[in-house]
Amino acid sequence: MSTHLTTVAGVAVDTRHFIGGERVASTETFTDVSPIDGSVLAEISRGTAMEAAAAVAAAKAAFPAWAATPRAERARLLHAIADGVERRLEELALVETTDNGALLRSHRRGVMPRVAHNFRFFADWLLELDHEDFTTRGHTNHVTWDPAGPCVLITPWNAPLMLATWKVAPALAAGDTVVLKPAEWSPLTASLLADIATEAGLPAGVLNVVQGYGSEVGDPLTAHPDVRRISFTGSVPTARHIAASAAANLTPLSLELGGKSPLLVFADADLDLAADLAVEQYDNAGQVCLAATRILVEAPVAEEFTRRFTEKAAALRQGDPREEATDIGPTIHPRQLEKINGFVRRALEAGARAVIGGHRGAGQYYAPTLLTDVRQDSEIVQEEVFGPVLTLQTFDDEDEAVRLANDTRFGLAATVATGDADRAARVTARLVAGTVWVNCFFVRDLKAPFGGSRHSGVGREGGTWSFDFYCDVKNTVTAPKGFKDHG
Ligand code: NAD
Repeated sequence: MSTHLTTVAGVAVDTRHFIGGERVASTETFTDVSPIDGSVLAEISRGTAMEAAAAVAAAKAAFPAWAATPRAERARLLHAIADGVERRLEELALVETTDNGALLRSHRRGVMPRVAHNFRFFADWLLELDHEDFTTRGHTNHVTWDPAGPCVLITPWNAPLMLATWKVAPALAAGDTVVLKPAEWSPLTASLLADIATEAGLPAGVLNVVQGYGSEVGDPLTAHPDVRRISFTGSVPTARHIAASAAANLTPLSLELGGKSPLLVFADADLDLAADLAVEQYDNAGQVCLAATRILVEAPVAEEFTRRFTEKAAALRQGDPREEATDIGPTIHPRQLEKINGFVRRALEAGARAVIGGHRGAGQYYAPTLLTDVRQDSEIVQEEVFGPVLTLQTFDDEDEAVRLANDTRFGLAATVATGDADRAARVTARLVAGTVWVNCFFVRDLKAPFGGSRHSGVGREGGTWSFDFYCDVKNTVTAPKGFKDHG
């Protein structure tokens, strides 16, 4: 076996970059560790400016042919990648769980099928993508979505392959070529994606994967003048840095960032449903950008809501994410655990009360936590924790509910639990968020616009919005036959 292959959960994973259709090793490596038991999974090639430049050059060289490839052929190749994902679904699920600690059962049943769907959806959407021609004083306006060029796609560790392919699929469908940089805490499934794309017959250089740290390989990628789009999912501080780097070349950016989303529970809500929605926020150990981590409950039902919530939360099983019965796995990394612990410790010192949790578990686990007696202007209410930590506050009326809900610098999502459709319409109209759910959570259609307001992001992706971002949208105006007068 090549020294560049490692075996993770029985699956062979190449630890090198994938550039121009070839595997490329760096002289330096970084260590990839499993959050489940701290075991070393791999020594991964650690990219530098050299690999960044090589990957962008490969993407640039492959761009003209890929951009000229007919839509139907691009769509066929995307479906072939989806077939590969489905064929290797079990392997992808096992490797992802071992690498980032999220539940195996979710990877098997929800996440990896969704990865395949990302490719199928954007392949099919591409074939439908059209704008009706319209006329201006007899002249025809014809709108087209032209491929833009090489894209740099940078992704986080909390849902590695799902978030990567949510960008890779529309970019490839659009006729762009790609350099994907996965997060250093969970790089393995991106390498498997490179294998799958090769097996599917994607031409060399159309998809490139470079691995490593943001400061070492991310910076030279985002500052590269040949890059025509940057799509980033991650934290606000990194987004600021990338935006500054992109500014030098005026490279268009899409930023999908953090959140501190509210769950508003009105007294007229189905309280059982509301408690279920609240408990769902512990999914993926709370490491979910969309998580509704601020529970706002109408005062008269706060006690009853809390009773039902704690009963349901007590039934959650925390443990090995590979086991079917587990509901909450470990946090991704000792540094993340320490960060979560620090947030909760400071909140408790400031006077918060832990209704449940409020402490670490064994190993890299953090106990599901609900904090109450928190001030609206406190750190625990204003800042994203990215762990299984929720806060509970009460409100007296609709105005106060909306005021509290909107009173952070974020605006990614909001969830409203109410039995009154008129109230739902009034409240959702006033909430600042990219996505609002009423009496449900996490229902996401790839047709829908997705993104955040304020510090939760810049731009929207999904359906046609993805093509608007990944393409140069062009309007061609043609004069009617025999037309002469330009006056
Ligand atoms: P992060 O910002 O630390 O890292 C994200 C990625 O950026 C990683 O691949 C990292 O290597 C890279 N990076 C870091 N510095 C860079 C630089 N200077 N140049 C280029 N790339 C660089 O975020 P994280 O901790 O991995 O992810 C968690 C964050 O992501 C949370 O804030 C979460 O809310 C957010 N998130 C948002 C969404 C969304 O869709 N809005 C989805 C998932 C996660």
